[in-house]
Amino acid sequence: MVKFNKIKRCVSCKKDAQVDILYPFCEDCFIKHYLRRVEKIIKKFKLVEENDNILVCVSGGKDSLSCADVLNQYRNTYSFQIGILHIDVGLYECTNERTLQVVERFAQERNIPFYLVRFTEYFNIDIENLFKKSRRPRCSICGMLKRYVMNRFARENGFNKIATGHCADDIIRFFFKNWTNYSFEWIDKLKPKTERDCLKQITRVRPLFEMLEKENFWYTKIKNIVVAGCSQCSFFMRKDKWYDILRIIDEKDRYFKLQFLRGLYQVDFSFKKEEREFKECKICGEITDKDICAVCKLVKR
Ligand code: AMP
Ligand code: ZN
Repeated sequence: MVKFNKIKRCVSCKKDAQVDILYPFCEDCFIKHYLRRVEKIIKKFKLVEENDNILVCVSGGKDSLSCADVLNQYRNTYSFQIGILHIDVGLYECTNERTLQVVERFAQERNIPFYLVRFTEYFNIDIENLFKKSRRPRCSICGMLKRYVMNRFARENGFNKIATGHCADDIIRFFFKNWTNYSFEWIDKLKPKTERDCLKQITRVRPLFEMLEKENFWYTKIKNIVVAGCSQCSFFMRKDKWYDILRIIDEKDRYFKLQFLRGLYQVDFSFKKEEREFKECKICGEITDKDICAVCKLVKR
């Protein structure tokens, strides 16, 4: 005889639960709970303000699509505008016909302006070649170039904020990986909002800061949001040891990630921030604290 586990009830409406990540919820109550939590972060950290024009960067994966969907739902309530940007880095694994179709259709169905740019429009490079020639990890090169393009594109096209789909799992992995790097230049990324340091820089917001990857997965699934097959950069071996470590912690304590992040809110990292002097790169004019920015240095080589 098959023994059934006791069916859990939705903590909100007491119907049968269908999703059980932090608490058991039915599908409707899960979506309400998800939206409520994101909205709380948006308000608490003033991620959006009236008349903002926010560039939402969408890779086609579940996290950035959830981020774009939530911002799209709130744009009337809080009177701001959004546009969607997809960057084609020049690797078939990251951007292909399917990715483009998914992101473009997502934007079209919601009446959101869609922009596509390619690395080659900004850098005269072959990305594979660049990977071969640099000792930096591939992911770090790709990330640095993407941030450069996001900032420049946003500024040159009238956006005053950039939103990314970074979620709790990203933030915690990032924290562990960098903690032993004592420069603390990265510490601003442990908050839902990174204010600009100078005029040429665009403020960055992370509305899904507190949401778990699993929650984003269920959000897109329940809302029937089509996600591009390869939601993560398979190429770049992003599944390092921290994926395993976090999975194990999660199995022991499902509230750990959320509590960890809420702990981060309480910390004032400003004491660790080094005073940096900002200049314009002598080659491209973008912001740097050296004569030539890291991107130009890399691309020139
Ligand atoms: P990742 O560094 O791949 O974890 O991506 C972090 C965030 O950057 C995502 O949640 C997206 O918001 C954004 N992003 C990553 N790749 C792209 C891309 N190709 N085009 C636009 N935005 C991207
Ligand atoms: Zn990539």
